[in-house]
Amino acid sequence: MNLVPEVRLTYRSPLVERLRETGRATVGQLELVLPASFGFCWGVDRALAMVEEARQEYGERPMWLISSIIHNPRVNADLRAKGIGFLRGEHATKGALEALGENDVVIVPAFSATVDDMEFLRARSVTIVDTTCPWVIKPHKRTLKYLKEGFTTIIHGTVGHEETEATCSLIEHEGGHYVVVYSIEEAEVLASYLEGTADADALRSGLRCGSFSPGFDAEEHLLKIGVINQTTMLASESRAIGDRLLESLKQRDGEEALAETFRDFDTICRATQDNQDAAAAVAQEQPDLYLVVGGYDSSNTKNLARVGHRLGVRAFHIEGPHCLGEKLEFRHRGTGEIEHEADWLPSQRPLKVAFSAGASTPDALLGEVIERLVELCGETLPASEV
Ligand code: SF4
Repeated sequence: MNLVPEVRLTYRSPLVERLRETGRATVGQLELVLPASFGFCWGVDRALAMVEEARQEYGERPMWLISSIIHNPRVNADLRAKGIGFLRGEHATKGALEALGENDVVIVPAFSATVDDMEFLRARSVTIVDTTCPWVIKPHKRTLKYLKEGFTTIIHGTVGHEETEATCSLIEHEGGHYVVVYSIEEAEVLASYLEGTADADALRSGLRCGSFSPGFDAEEHLLKIGVINQTTMLASESRAIGDRLLESLKQRDGEEALAETFRDFDTICRATQDNQDAAAAVAQEQPDLYLVVGGYDSSNTKNLARVGHRLGVRAFHIEGPHCLGEKLEFRHRGTGEIEHEADWLPSQRPLKVAFSAGASTPDALLGEVIERLVELCGETLPASEV
């Protein structure tokens, strides 16, 4: 399914389309570099096309999103402007969730919904438009397989992210157990417990709140573990986590037992992998500045910036052109807080600036960022590029 024309027109950028063809352009003293893969993924295209089709099909009926369709403020604002209401979050319509009935249409986002939410919607007899990305179904299926075989699922993911929340709810609903590890540092805490160098209290306190399934007992529920990933995590970190946990079980149980006690399955989605590989290729060129554009709550965007940090590049995760000014507004790579940096634009010329954009970032937004950067550098895009 491709973007319907109306959506495609809203989010296109002729500048980005031109740059996509060549991968780079020189504007005065500026070299602009774009990776081979970035921006809207297949799953986001599909979700937005389904919303447009639903608008055409259900006409005047009240239409709702549970929270966001994808993690991009502009896209969500556009949907609100088209009359689609929100049931949760800062833009929620008060009382709408409780009042849902059979005349309402509810859109399930690309990153899926919890079992409780789906049951609630069905009980209210609303019309459900389920835009869940097929890639998100992959970890769901794998975790159900683990469960059937008596394994506890270790999720490399983010507590509170809708996709991981949905996966956790599925495991919980089926009576299984999970542990969510956010990073290689958190995986190290789990590995220490498995190797017997840390106790259950250290495990609890070393991971963030919400990382364990209800009723989780480390002694009982870590005998057999299977690893999956939230589809948008940093692929290299997911591999490192799988390897570290494999090593710890090897130490605990011996190599021969691994076939019985350990599973690992890569559930990173193709778009995430492609965008990260392409971002790494650009970062390896060591640009003077690397701007990654996407919603601050977008996991895959955050990880594109981390690709740059890991390769020693001055990389920033920003949300849009409004972030570029005397100070740069960006999301801090460690704390996740929104911060401001005065000394962000190198004064040297020539200047090489690379860009990337998350899977939920419209080309139009990236185009505006590039235009703003060019303007701040005192250069002018040729008329043919604007
Ligand atoms: S980032 Fe991957 S999992 Fe998420 S919507 Fe896009 S294709 Fe699907």
